[in-house]
Order: sequence, then C-alpha cells, then structure tokens
Amino acid sequence: MEKACNSHYHNQSLLLLPLFLSLLVAGLAYPTQDEQSQIISRFQQYLQINTTQPSPDYQSSTQFLLSQANSLSLESQVIEFVKGKPVILLKWPGSDLSLPSILLNSHTDVVPFEPSKWTHPPLGAYIDEGGNIFGRGSQDMKSVGMQYLEAIRRLKLSGFQPKRSLYLSFVPDEEIGGYDGAKKLAYSDVFKDMNVEIVLDEGLPSTDENYRLFYAEMAPWWLVIKSNGAPGHGAKLYDNSAMENLLKSIESIRRFRASQFDLLKAGLKSKGDVISVNMVFLKAGTPSPTGFVMNLQPSEAEAGFDIRAPPTADIESLEKRIEEEWAPASRNMTFEFLNKAEYFKGINVYESIIEAYTSYIPPGRDGVSRDEL
Ligand SMILES: [Zn+2]
Repeated sequence: MEKACNSHYHNQSLLLLPLFLSLLVAGLAYPTQDEQSQIISRFQQYLQINTTQPSPDYQSSTQFLLSQANSLSLESQVIEFVKGKPVILLKWPGSDLSLPSILLNSHTDVVPFEPSKWTHPPLGAYIDEGGNIFGRGSQDMKSVGMQYLEAIRRLKLSGFQPKRSLYLSFVPDEEIGGYDGAKKLAYSDVFKDMNVEIVLDEGLPSTDENYRLFYAEMAPWWLVIKSNGAPGHGAKLYDNSAMENLLKSIESIRRFRASQFDLLKAGLKSKGDVISVNMVFLKAGTPSPTGFVMNLQPSEAEAGFDIRAPPTADIESLEKRIEEEWAPASRNMTFEFLNKAEYFKGINVYESIIEAYTSYIPPGRDGVSRDEL
C-alpha cells in the first residue's frame, strides 16, 4: 500500500470520491465482463505513463487524458499556469448554467519508487490472479482520476444529463506541494468563472468494503519550546531553572492533551475534531564521557511537539495558550514552529476553499437544494 500523501496539502480536500461515485452510479447495471476489461485496460494505460516526480512525463499524461475526454465528448482545455506543468480541465456542461458547478480534482503526478522493493515493476500495472493491480499511482491517485472518467462514461451511456456543470481538473505537482498546479488554479480567473460550489479530492485508501469520508485535513504544527534558566549545582533547590520551567510547560501540555483525548474517549468528539499533541523529543542535559553530568542543573532545555489542528479548531486560542501557558516569556521561554511555512500554506488552502464556498449563489427556486448534492 502506498503511503497516503497526507503530508502534502491539497487545495481542495473535501470528500472522499468513491462514496460520491457509488451514489451516482447506483441503479446502473454492473459493468459486463467486456466493459470491465476495457475499464481496467484504460486504468493500466494511465498507470504505465511515468509521471514520477521529480521529472513527470506530463506530455504523455496530457495526451492520454485529452484522448479520454475526447472519447467522452467532454470540453477540454490545457492550462499551463507554469510552463511544462499542465492543468487539464474538462467540462461536462450542466443543463442549468446558472447553478454553481461541481469540481472533481485529482493529481497526475506520483511519488518516486524503489523498483527493487516492488514485487512487480512499478510502472507495469501488472494484475495478479486475485485482481490486485500493482503500479505507482494505483492508489495515489490515478485510480481516482480514472474513476471520475469511468463514472462519466457510464452516466453518459445511461442517458444522464447533469443539471450542474461538472468539471474535472487533473493537476500537476501535487506531490511537491501543488504550487504550480492546484494553487495557481484555485487563485485563477478560470477558477472564478467555473463558479464551483463543491470540490471532491483524494482521501485515503480503504482496506475493506467501507468508503470513509473526509471533509477536512489536519494542519500540522511542529512546535519547539525552549527554556532558559540559571545553571546551578544539582543539590540546590532554586526557582526558574531551565528544567523546572520546561517541566511546568510539559505538565501543562500534558493536561491539554489529556483533555482532548478525554473528549475522544468519551465519544463527544471525533478524531478529526480534537487537537492532537504529542511530545516527540526532549533535548537537555550536559553530556559527559559516560552519559550526562549528574550534579549540574543545565541552563537550557527544549522539547518538541507534533500538534495537529483541525480546521475547526480555535487557532487564536491555541496560539494564546502557547504564548501564555506552554512557552511564556515570563518563564524565560521561547518557542518556534518548525514548519511555520506549512502552517501558513494551510491557511491559504482554507482561504481558497472559503473563497469558493462563499461565492455560492443560492438557486432560490423550489426543487433544487443542497441535499441534491
Ligand atoms: Zn495524492
């Protein structure tokens, strides 16, 4: 199983696709044997295109996707916000162009691989007797991109006509941050004109029959707190030593962690609604040839924490808590975020989502509601 790329941000990370598809295709006949093999063979073709970072073959993937769009009579355009990094945008126009649209997003690039660790070549798209397909991108996330297209194919065959326009975006460079793909698209006039109301993007693979739904992504905050204090003899009791100050913070953070964990244990909140905090390192002590000096209280100590905050978290109050309780200057403490840039990126991501959502125009007529989505 590939590692889900949840360490990367997604400009629009909302719902897991398969549920959506299963809703849409409900009622349609299951594909025949012949259809199934064609569906799989198209998926294999996409997997066999080498879009591995750091030098993805976007030319071939673009060609392939355009040919798919063509076979489905979808409108298509290739936009290079940055040269050589194509965003492929497909459209199935809705019958009522005044309604906001739906966007199905996927990325075309995949993460690198170590061929020697694979049981079958990572670009071979080999299928074993059990029907398992081996290929880089089979989960993350060429499968999803192809499922979009196949669902459209089936819907078109059934005579379905969408009321809202349906867009598909195939974006580059997601695995290296998405700056030249999804981000550029999200801030573009093209995107504004699309009048998107809801975006579906990648989720996590499921190992069973259940499709899990994700509507947000936790933002990582990697917090390092440092404490300073007068050094002193190990036998002496005095206030404001670096260790003592750090211990107070650790105790405070531990209490916060327990309070969040309690909400989870009691079933009052779900995993995606609490702030998780875990201590990941402790750095302190004066080294000696045999370990640490045992009779000296050091003047510095630090600890690192992996904090994950859901988008619903009260960020201001968390920041205040860090400043006032976890690393207060009054206790000779400082703090920094190792991935502050990552944190700000997260804000940008949600900005673009909110931008998209707030530009929603209510249909204002009977029989059309959000429930239909
Ligand atoms: Zn991905």
